[in-house]
Amino acid sequence: MNEGCQSDCRNNPIDRLADQILWAAREMFQRGLVVGAWGNISLRLATRCGDGRFLQNDLAAASSPGALASNSQSDIDHDDLILITPSGMDYNQLQKTDLVAINLEGQIIRGHRRPSTEMALHLAIYRQRPEIRAIVHTHSVFASALAVARIPLPPILEELAQLLGQEVPVSEYALAGTEGLAEKAVKALGQGPAVLLTNHGLVGVGKTVSEALMICQVVEKGAQVYIFSRILGSPRVLSSGEVKQLREEYLYRYGQK
Ligand SMILES: [Zn+2]
Repeated sequence: MNEGCQSDCRNNPIDRLADQILWAAREMFQRGLVVGAWGNISLRLATRCGDGRFLQNDLAAASSPGALASNSQSDIDHDDLILITPSGMDYNQLQKTDLVAINLEGQIIRGHRRPSTEMALHLAIYRQRPEIRAIVHTHSVFASALAVARIPLPPILEELAQLLGQEVPVSEYALAGTEGLAEKAVKALGQGPAVLLTNHGLVGVGKTVSEALMICQVVEKGAQVYIFSRILGSPRVLSSGEVKQLREEYLYRYGQK
């Protein structure tokens, strides 16, 4: 086992990732990106760590009181393990024990709740995008308005260009909670950071749950500004050169590094 792997595993224990999901779920709800129990969040855990020893340790720790519930001790050697929010539960009441651990085939590994009805959507994205470790799915108002009108969100603002660096596409319509929706969403998402789901909402992806959540927030703000600017006149869309410049500035020179 190399040092990088050990470090990755130690820094991503299942319990800490469960805390991150709960944090993001409450943020998503409190910021008005969803109403009720709609929307969902997942995180992919690091599990391919040599002999899997750290994964086993993490799962054993997660079986302790107050952590994720354990269904069995035998089924822990998976290449990918995903923690996902449960179906139809109040975000303010959500506990770590309510989260469900599944594998890439959708089998429940840990947890006693029914997983989100959009589990297929999350799994399809993780299968297509090995680098993605977090998915946030919201039903925010302005992004949903664009999704209903089937209008992609072009890069019209600094933060859209910097964080996303491209247009947010709209997927073809499919019934919520189906494999069809998962297929169409993945097709439209491609290698991008977000996709609008027709007559439904928004999906943001990232390497961390805070990044995926921030993408959803920036897209929602961008959608609002885009709709207002279309009411006022003809929005000026940033050129591909301007987007590239802003994106590179953000990636290489923005913030404290
Ligand atoms: Zn939804």
